[in-house]
Amino acid sequence: MTQLTYLQWQQKATELNINGNAYINGEYTQAISGLTFKCINPANGECLAEIARCNKDDVKLAVSIAKQTFESGVWSRQAPVARKKTLQKFAALLQENAQQLALLETLDMGKPISESLNVDIPSAINCVNWYAEAIDKIYDEVAPTPEDQVAFITREAIGVVAAIVPWNFPLLMGSWKFAPALAAGNSVILKPSEKSPLTAIFIAQLAEEAGLPQGVFQVLPGFGHEVGEALALSEDVDCLVFTGSTTVGKRLMEYSGQSNMKRVWVEAGGKSPNIVFADCIDLKKAAEAAAWGCFYNQGEVCVAGTRLLIEESIKAEFMPLLIAACQDIQPGDPLDPATSMGAIVDDNQLNQVLHYIDIGNEQGANIITGGQQSMQQTGGYFLGPTIFDNVDNEMCIAQEEIFGPVMAVISFTDAAQAITIANDSKFGLAAGIWTADLNKSHNVAKALRAGSVWINNYNGGDMTVPFGGFKQSGNARDKSLHALDKYTELKTTLIQLEVE
Ligand code: NAD
Repeated sequence: MTQLTYLQWQQKATELNINGNAYINGEYTQAISGLTFKCINPANGECLAEIARCNKDDVKLAVSIAKQTFESGVWSRQAPVARKKTLQKFAALLQENAQQLALLETLDMGKPISESLNVDIPSAINCVNWYAEAIDKIYDEVAPTPEDQVAFITREAIGVVAAIVPWNFPLLMGSWKFAPALAAGNSVILKPSEKSPLTAIFIAQLAEEAGLPQGVFQVLPGFGHEVGEALALSEDVDCLVFTGSTTVGKRLMEYSGQSNMKRVWVEAGGKSPNIVFADCIDLKKAAEAAAWGCFYNQGEVCVAGTRLLIEESIKAEFMPLLIAACQDIQPGDPLDPATSMGAIVDDNQLNQVLHYIDIGNEQGANIITGGQQSMQQTGGYFLGPTIFDNVDNEMCIAQEEIFGPVMAVISFTDAAQAITIANDSKFGLAAGIWTADLNKSHNVAKALRAGSVWINNYNGGDMTVPFGGFKQSGNARDKSLHALDKYTELKTTLIQLEVE
């Protein structure tokens, strides 16, 4: 992909004409109420655009259209190979617009442009292509019945899927939901976070240009307690897929119980342990991976390795390597391609992170780097890597998800203690292990209560592997063929034969 200079990105940003409308039934439209809310650039606090503030009326309309579209079969009953071609065209159009999408993502939520351009957008495109490719290669089953019966076990699209997504990887998290849901034949309503609606809005027209029938893919920007809640309480939404906080995830499960028992799939928070053993093969590599594994994307990553568990005997050698690695991850203007760390998504989030830093200090942990807001002259919300040493796993900063660039360093003396500390969390999203010992790596990995365990790497894996958590990190899996299960219902069709 063509790499632009800082100046070129700044120029492109000034020329942008941002669309803030909802996309319902094949067209961009204002919210029925006519209300809007402001979309703020976290790098300078300025308003980028007015966004349609949808509410329950827009939800009612979009859901009824999605339902009709699904029942008409215009998409749901197309041959898988036809859906594949349309989604491949959609991916190609996303690719043609990759620069624009990267720019919108960076302006909207503050991540470095090099990451939007080289990670978020290509990964989202790859996700659409991956499910497009998969959908005409999946077979159903025939059960091992007695001679006088034949039973087919088939998967059918579930109906209207509402996808409620967060702001930390706006398009990528969206694609993990809408790509498999559309591939399976559903009608989808995407609700982006109110903090990052721009790419979701932008791609709606591309979906239709690719050939998705009108009403199959709709986008409703707005607030969680308005659009999100109305989707979750709708009697006609069949499946609700969510990525976001554990608190909201639990609420969505309640809404399902209060309404039509829609399937609810939650990808929620984390407080992941990254465990470095004394026999780690390469301490410098582990230190760099620990820093990036915690501070990538301003630390706004669900699987961030926010609890660094370090074996006591190598701590003195490891800590300077860790601090040195942080020098490469310092805040800068997100539009500068050289920037490795952008802005925190908004002032609320920054204040929440600073509040946790105060709590860490009060509870007796020591800051060894960072801890202060920086670049205030920009009007934006910047905070560099912050590391607390001497953390006890009982402390608030080790138990609660901060969702910012804050690491808690906890020491241990043997594998059993490391496992106990690692599992002492309400979350179970991910974990890292650094060791040269094959037996230890397997044994510790098996003992960890986490959906992903990375041995001698952190946050590895592409579309081929599932992603999701144990415990209060959720009940769902995104990515891989496993993700398709969420978007289908299993049907048994049994035929009784007359056997001569
Ligand atoms: P959030 O829970 O505040 O919001 C997520 C989405 O839910 C937003 O679109 C929001 O508008 C909506 N929402 C809020 N209240 C709602 C309500 N009452 N009813 C319906 N919808 C509502 O989370 P966030 O701050 O956007 O994202 C950060 C969280 O996401 C972190 O906890 C992070 O760990 C989690 N996350 C998890 C994964 C994963 O795969 N497990 C990936 C990325 C982020």
